[in-house]
Order: sequence, then C-alpha cells, then structure tokens
Amino acid sequence: MKVDLHLHTTASDGSLTPAQLIKRAADQDIRVIAITDHDSVEGIPEATLAAKNYKQLTVIPGVEISTDVPGNEIHVLGLFVDYANQQLQAELTRLRVSRQMRAENMTAKLNGLGLSIEYERVLQLADGASVGRPHIAKALLEKGYISDFREAFDKYIGRNGPAYAEREKMLPQEAVKLIAQTGGLPVLAHPADIENLEELLPLYKKNGLIGIETYYHGYSMKTIDWLSQLANNHGLITTGGSDYHNDNGDAGGPLGYTDIPSKSIEQLLLLARQKGHLK
Ligand SMILES: [Zn+2]
Ligand SMILES: [Zn+2]
Repeated sequence: MKVDLHLHTTASDGSLTPAQLIKRAADQDIRVIAITDHDSVEGIPEATLAAKNYKQLTVIPGVEISTDVPGNEIHVLGLFVDYANQQLQAELTRLRVSRQMRAENMTAKLNGLGLSIEYERVLQLADGASVGRPHIAKALLEKGYISDFREAFDKYIGRNGPAYAEREKMLPQEAVKLIAQTGGLPVLAHPADIENLEELLPLYKKNGLIGIETYYHGYSMKTIDWLSQLANNHGLITTGGSDYHNDNGDAGGPLGYTDIPSKSIEQLLLLARQKGHLK
C-alpha cells in the first residue's frame, strides 16, 4: 500500500494546490497521505473536500511546524491535527507573521547588497501562502541575479549568508506540546541530522511526541535502521514521507517515493483510532 505522510501544497511552499495534490496522489494509487504545510493548516479544507471524490484515499490533516534550537532548525510534524482548533490556528498565524517580517528583513538586506528585488514581488510569489526563503530565491531568479535556487542559498540567504535574517522562534518541545494539546499526533520530521537526537527524545516524548519520521526521502538503509532502533528504544512509532514540494526536486523528493512498512502504518492508524480521529 502506497503511503506518503509528508506533503506540501501552495498553502506553504509547494507548487500544487491542495486539490491538485489530492488528484495526483489518487492517480498514483497512493492510499494514505498527510498534508503537512509549513506553519499552516489552510490547505486542509480544500484537500478534504477534494478527497471526497476518491473513496480509496485517506487524507490526514497535518502541519509541519518550524522550530529552532541554537544553530539549527528542527521541524515537527503534526498528524491528525484538529485544524479548526483556535489555539492551533492562532499560534500558526503568529509564526507566519514572523515569517513575513523575516522575508521583509531579508529583502532589505539583499537591497543593501545591491540586489534590487521588491518585498511586494516576494509576497506575490508566495501567493498567499506562508512566505519563505524559496519565494525570495524565486524573486532573485527572475531578476537574473542567480542561475538556480541553490545559488541563492549558497551565496545569500542560507543560514550563514549575508542576507539571512532570524525570525521569532518556537522550541521543538513547544511545538510538540502545542500539537498534542490541540489533539494531534506529533512526529519529529527528517530527524537524522538533529544533533544529540537520542538525548533529546525523552524531553520531546514527555511533551507528547509519538513518532519519528524514519522512512524519509533520501535516507539510506543504515539511517533507517538507526532511526528504527531509536524509535523502538524510546517507545515511538516510525512514520515516513517524501516531503514532496514540486516536480523540480529542489525541495523534498518525488510524490509517493517512500516505502513505509505496513506495520508502521497500522501502528499510526491504531493510535489515531484510540484518540478518536478515525472510526
Ligand atoms: Zn521540514
Ligand atoms: Zn516538509
């Protein structure tokens, strides 16, 4: 059974609308997907509506919250989130506003470096979605300042670049807690490169973490084995996903790429049933 539990749409920096993504997933015979946009649940209603046309497809409402630890960014997935929950929506709005302020700061820094892109254009490119660095890269690309996205990150807007700007932070354990408190199932996204992962897991688990994304696009068998072992040692379940953003492959992998064992899916669905998310 094809399953993909980490997908982006135009509600953040993905290129397909929620309805287009649903159709693509159904056409590829994927049976369970999760819509997990950056700091946004705004694509979920459209996805849920579109999914009514495809009875064989289960759509899990989700989110991917960006959080920060010193020198790094940790992403926390929420699966089966209650996307109408007001506390969740208010916190996500706060994070998105801080993203906009950061984009504005970075645009100003780029202007200071002699690269004249306009913040209005960056917002236009985000098209109502949570504005991120890919949209700034796009603005640089269309002005011919760079020849591809990677160059934008390497030269200007990567963490150590001259036009990088920080934004309001949320700690990983706070995101885990927010998701758990508002009824969702928190999972650590693409955790392989998190420093001191094993030492951090008990803290996250105490705040409600239920799983780690083990079958992630691009992970080697060795990494998958290591993460499975960690999950096992800490009483966490394993999930997986492609992190699909678009067909250019400049972020995430191809839609439906990962092979998540059916045992992992069963554990997730069992947990969701216990919490009343599924019948
Ligand atoms: Zn991520
Ligand atoms: Zn992602």
